[in-house]
Amino acid sequence: MQVYNFNAGPAALPRPVILKAQSEFADYKGCGYSIIEESHRAAPFDEVINAAEANLRTLLGIPEEYAVLFLQGGASLQFAMVPMNLQVPGKKIGYADTGVWAHKAIKELDILGLDKEVVFDGADTNYNEIRGIADWKVNPDLAYFGICSNNTIYGTEYPFFPETGDVPLVADMSSDILSKRIDVKKFGLIFAGAQKNIGPAGLTLVIIRKDLAERCPKNIPTMLRYTTHIDSKSLFNTPPTFSIYINRLITDWVIEQGGLEAIEQANDQKAKELYDFIDNSGFYRATAAPATRSKMNVCFRLPTEEQEKAFIAFAKSNGLVGLKGHRKVGGCRASIYNAVPLEGVRRLVEIMKEFQKNA
Ligand SMILES: *Cc1c(COP(=O)(O)O)cnc(C)c1O
Repeated sequence: MQVYNFNAGPAALPRPVILKAQSEFADYKGCGYSIIEESHRAAPFDEVINAAEANLRTLLGIPEEYAVLFLQGGASLQFAMVPMNLQVPGKKIGYADTGVWAHKAIKELDILGLDKEVVFDGADTNYNEIRGIADWKVNPDLAYFGICSNNTIYGTEYPFFPETGDVPLVADMSSDILSKRIDVKKFGLIFAGAQKNIGPAGLTLVIIRKDLAERCPKNIPTMLRYTTHIDSKSLFNTPPTFSIYINRLITDWVIEQGGLEAIEQANDQKAKELYDFIDNSGFYRATAAPATRSKMNVCFRLPTEEQEKAFIAFAKSNGLVGLKGHRKVGGCRASIYNAVPLEGVRRLVEIMKEFQKNA
């Protein structure tokens, strides 16, 4: 039976990448051992990390004045590392609270004793929309302004980004990076845990405008300073070599698909077919408000929790896995990242129809 994986993260990776990694896993390009047994300072790995960076620069159009860093600690460490490095004495840090992940980033500001200004709070609509982005008044005197571009748990996503003037915009793009074109120059810093769309767990991607890294106060430990990793090209200590190797294969694959324009088109089509079906079903109900719905994480409910349980089991028995909603919000969630093909979404719609017919 053909299986389709709708997990939220770690999540589906392109099948051709998994097979290529398998084919060269035990004997990397004839060297007689695996790439994961290679020194991170030897030529074969040098080629891998340089190609991964070059691919990302090509795909996202990352300008020269930005560094591309391959770090560890997940997006969760970035919640603390960003304010540690980008704080400015006497200036507040702005944030838009669009749900769990933004919330966690804001909490780190409190722990560090940094003053904050929360510009948007989605709590009163249960985080089911990102309202009024174009009208947000971003204080021009902030150290930086933080957002979470795609809210994996609530299924909301910024269709465009807030205007922040000279205030550096910082984005957690863990669950929508490489899903569409973005203008990197709009951002001071972008970070992403790799395990949603661009690799296995263990790798954290950071794209940072190099001048911002210079702000870092003197009392921040070596490993937590961006300048350390910029200066050493992500090789200050041993980086997650296996995850970087897979990231290289994935970015090769994205380029083969036609780059981010083609990927974006495919993602638009997948999301449209699924939301259209849900909206017209008279049975399933999408939880996010239409204007700021996520194209990566489609959250939906059935009339009763019992039916949700039965649906998830029915889907699983038909080869569709990972459809349970996050434990915080319940319901169902189909994560349709880059690696989930249109056929997978169409199969899901078929199974949803069949379940509804028998409900
Ligand atoms: C999954 C996720 C995180 C947490 O990432 P870790 O790498 O596990 O720390 C943070 N932000 C967003 C938007 C996510 O989807």
